[in-house]
Amino acid sequence: MLFSDVYVNEDVKNRLRRTVQNQRVSHAQLFLGSEGTHSLALAIAYAQYINCSHRTEKDSCGICPSCKKYQQLAHPDLHFYFPNATNQKIKKDPQSSEFYTEWREMILSTQAMFTLNDWYSKIEIENKQGIINTKDVEDLLYKASMKAYEAEYKVFVIWMIDKLRFDAATKLLKTLEEPDGKTLFVLITENHDKVLKTVLSRTQLLKINKLSTDALVDVLMQTKHYDASTAQYIAISSDNHLIHAMRTQEDENEDVFKLNLFVACMRLAYQLAFPSHTFDFNSVVDFISKLEALGREKQKDFLRYVISFVRKSMLLDYNLNNLLRITKQEQEALLKFRSFIHKNNVSVFYKYFNDAISHIEYNVNAKILFADLLISLSYILAKQKTA
Ligand SMILES: [Zn+2]
Repeated sequence: MLFSDVYVNEDVKNRLRRTVQNQRVSHAQLFLGSEGTHSLALAIAYAQYINCSHRTEKDSCGICPSCKKYQQLAHPDLHFYFPNATNQKIKKDPQSSEFYTEWREMILSTQAMFTLNDWYSKIEIENKQGIINTKDVEDLLYKASMKAYEAEYKVFVIWMIDKLRFDAATKLLKTLEEPDGKTLFVLITENHDKVLKTVLSRTQLLKINKLSTDALVDVLMQTKHYDASTAQYIAISSDNHLIHAMRTQEDENEDVFKLNLFVACMRLAYQLAFPSHTFDFNSVVDFISKLEALGREKQKDFLRYVISFVRKSMLLDYNLNNLLRITKQEQEALLKFRSFIHKNNVSVFYKYFNDAISHIEYNVNAKILFADLLISLSYILAKQKTA
């Protein structure tokens, strides 16, 4: 995998490239990135870069023998360990090497964009928790003690190191601290808190943030050929989660985004009306910032969509179903909101959302406008419940 195929913010790639250029590759590194960051791909690209015989300042060459093997995940000095468990095929003593075919397929077919659950589905252990067990660590220790076949660096990638069993970890520690020869361990996790302290203390931490919205928009435009506006909708509605954004289908068009936004809007208004112990006011602030980030035209677009949604809810109330053109998601949402949006209060919804559109046209501050709208909605909902 080339760095150019990895969708993480450029500063992280730069940091890794510099370690190679300055010959300061730390032998045990922990990549920490939430689900929806491209951490696994980054680990592979980094290892490929280290071993490439013709790398440039920016990337691996992609054509030297080492790169070719890396790109097929068939390099004899590249090793992977990942959570696994018994399934229909492997009925006892599971270990990573028995799932390598599936692992390779998974990475090559998704460009290393998959979640832990995707992986569990792939190896059909869905109802079990995968672990990285002692057998895996013994296999690793054996391979780590051997000389490299052909590469400068032997590389061990351990995906989801937080799934490493405690007794297995104990065996790994010494090698992690003082490996033989040129060895690189890249450990990957989504949960810093669940990684054993003894492992944390022996690794250098690299934090991988989610892609910025602008960067994700670029990725979506390049890879999916979306126009800028669709890409922006998808990026924001996926909360910059790379995997979700990349999986959003083209037919799940902008209306889905707007519907999701409205559902989120109603949910927050409800929480404002009936705050629970766990209610976090920051989620309101976050949401308002997202709406602000859309820009005026899309804000109006969203508000118009809500008005049409409310209209649909009316048609449903009057049993004018034959006039309805609704998607499955809309139908579900309509049913969910039936007790909150109905003929007795529909005019209030119309008024709030229409007013909001004209306020945007008058250039009212978007933050204040949407905060106001949320509070107004929360009043409607509060009234509804007490009525
Ligand atoms: Zn190369």
